[in-house]
Amino acid sequence: MPKYKLVCFDVDGTLIDNVTFSWQVFHDHFQTDRHRREDAKNRFFNGEITYKEWAEHDINLWRERNAKKPEFLKAIGHLRLMEGAMETLHELKKRGIKLAVISGSLNILLEKFIPNFEEFFDDVFLSRIYFDEDGSISKVEATEYDLDGKALALRKIAKREGISLKDCVFIGDYLNDLKIMQEAGLGIAFNCEYEELKKAADVVIEKKDLREILRYIL
Ligand SMILES: [Mg+2]
Repeated sequence: MPKYKLVCFDVDGTLIDNVTFSWQVFHDHFQTDRHRREDAKNRFFNGEITYKEWAEHDINLWRERNAKKPEFLKAIGHLRLMEGAMETLHELKKRGIKLAVISGSLNILLEKFIPNFEEFFDDVFLSRIYFDEDGSISKVEATEYDLDGKALALRKIAKREGISLKDCVFIGDYLNDLKIMQEAGLGIAFNCEYEELKKAADVVIEKKDLREILRYIL
């Protein structure tokens, strides 16, 4: 029997390499207004708007630039699937472990790098953008489960599945993973440059190969 029952992954910098914030990648690509972005960010951190509203605000900036799907794909052309990601997902799945994505990233990244991601992950928490036939953004579903909200998503899945938090694993790379890292029974800092997160983690993996996590989980 595996030691753990649920394994949750972050996306940017964890399942996908060459990126810390996918949102920033798109802002850079579409050259959105930094001041308006800063303003929305400050309003969020001052508690004036929700995370969802902040996300929708920023996606609207892309809309205003008439951002089309092929451009989104071009913007992430330099990103890569993390080394060992597919082997790791297959192995965990084979052992009957539940898998989840808990991320503030965007569906378009996962769709590009793991097109069959819905087959692997029992739960997927991330922001979603949908496109119409001419490639324009038709619909947006922003997640509420980024930052400290990631821990809420973990609790939600664990409760529904009747799994104790101590039997849950989380793997992430950045400071928005701090809270969920503390709550998961096993917190793994992976591809991480932030001391605060490394300190909160039970395991720190320096080698950039996701297969390295398996020895701690199985
Ligand atoms: Mg990340």
